[in-house]
Amino acid sequence: MDYISTRGGAPRLAFDDVLLAGLARDGGLYVPETWPRFTPDDWRSLRGLSYPELATRVMLPYVESTVPEAVFADMVADAYAGFGHPEVAPLRRLGDGLWLMELFHGPTLAFKDIAMQVLGRLFDHVLTARGERVTIVGATSGDTGSAAIEACRDRDAIECFILFPRGRVSEVQRRQMTTVDAPNIHCIALGGHFDDCQDAVKGMFNDMAFRDSHRLSAVNSINWARIMPQIAYYVAAAVRLGAPDREVSFAVPTGNFGNVFAAYAARCMGLPVRRLVIGSNANDILTRTLERGVMETGVVVPTLSPSMDIQVSSNFERLLFDLFDRDGAALAAAMAGFRETGRLELGAARWRALRDLFAAHRLNDAETSEAIGRWHRATGDLLDPHSVIGVEAAVHRRSDRAVPAVAMATAHPAKFPDAVVAAAGVRPELPERMADLYAREERYKVLDNDLAGVKAYVNDVLALRSAA
Ligand SMILES: *Cc1c(COP(=O)(O)O)cnc(C)c1O
Repeated sequence: MDYISTRGGAPRLAFDDVLLAGLARDGGLYVPETWPRFTPDDWRSLRGLSYPELATRVMLPYVESTVPEAVFADMVADAYAGFGHPEVAPLRRLGDGLWLMELFHGPTLAFKDIAMQVLGRLFDHVLTARGERVTIVGATSGDTGSAAIEACRDRDAIECFILFPRGRVSEVQRRQMTTVDAPNIHCIALGGHFDDCQDAVKGMFNDMAFRDSHRLSAVNSINWARIMPQIAYYVAAAVRLGAPDREVSFAVPTGNFGNVFAAYAARCMGLPVRRLVIGSNANDILTRTLERGVMETGVVVPTLSPSMDIQVSSNFERLLFDLFDRDGAALAAAMAGFRETGRLELGAARWRALRDLFAAHRLNDAETSEAIGRWHRATGDLLDPHSVIGVEAAVHRRSDRAVPAVAMATAHPAKFPDAVVAAAGVRPELPERMADLYAREERYKVLDNDLAGVKAYVNDVLALRSAA
């Protein structure tokens, strides 16, 4: 299978090149040229498989030009072997026809591990086959950095530098990054905000000599290989609940539209999905787009669910591509307009098509807190401030009570302990395998918000590493 850019102006690529390229050269995002379709019998044949077996079958059509099936099956089994739950992504009943899928049993306690653990292994496989190495540089406001670090640690073909804003990530998040003891992992605490970290990363990428000499690469959420592994858990949930002989709806707490796009992809593969509900916090660009038919950026405000504090949902472009009938030139023009004015009008037909499948629900911080406390009192469950937004969205935007609704739990409550204690009066415990997180030794470099200094540090580290 080949991949094409949403803006129609970049070469069509095979999976391995899409993996290493990330963003397309025309500024677009890569999507499969056609969706692989599963028949009802194909879906039925997934019943009873283990999670890694099912995930391998779902992903295989996307990767088979690059990785042989047996190698891929081992890779996927290995990716999920370290998860803290034998089912990898267990499904729990929350109420009448309401289910919770826990996506937070990976090494950093957030759903990003499910994709990153596969992505790191795919990178290593493709680079080793080509005899190449890359330097991954990334900026993080918390969750992405630790998931990337856990995915890249000890991989021979990868050096990994992660910049985080000094003093502006939670202690759990910082420790999950800085206590990883692997020679190829380098954490930088930058004096500044998340945007300064992102600017420093962009500055490194924009210096072509620096970029080429170190073979810079990224593992950000626009990479197709970040979406692909997420399709599998929607399939796993639906098949458990009776698909293809029964429809299912999903509710997803969303910022960048990556996770919920994977649910859309599952539907494009033929999974019977009735409705997709987007849950947002006060940074509600997606909810407003659904309500008004206009996508309009706002100012980012900090909330209790920081991993959704985003005002440009990059992955939404992949859905727009389909809403624009896959006309890359038309979408490129629309995105250029959006860049200039911060506004993109969908038009009546596209807006209607969007609302046929998607619904949206918004919670502010007070509502988020209230809901965490209420679910705890009612069921004894502690939900993190992101997951609870998905649960509330599922409850408030159910279409048909006969269709089971699955809310995606994206983080473990112990990842955001302060918000959970304040809301529920109970401090969530870290899982046993991480109970010593606060005792582990931290290792990171403190740098000023100065691009030249960051580059000099990266140069020095890489020179030492290649001499070793
Ligand atoms: C990244 C993240 C999200 C948002 O996911 P997107 O796919 O980027 O929309 C939600 N919850 C948690 C805990 C996250 O880490």
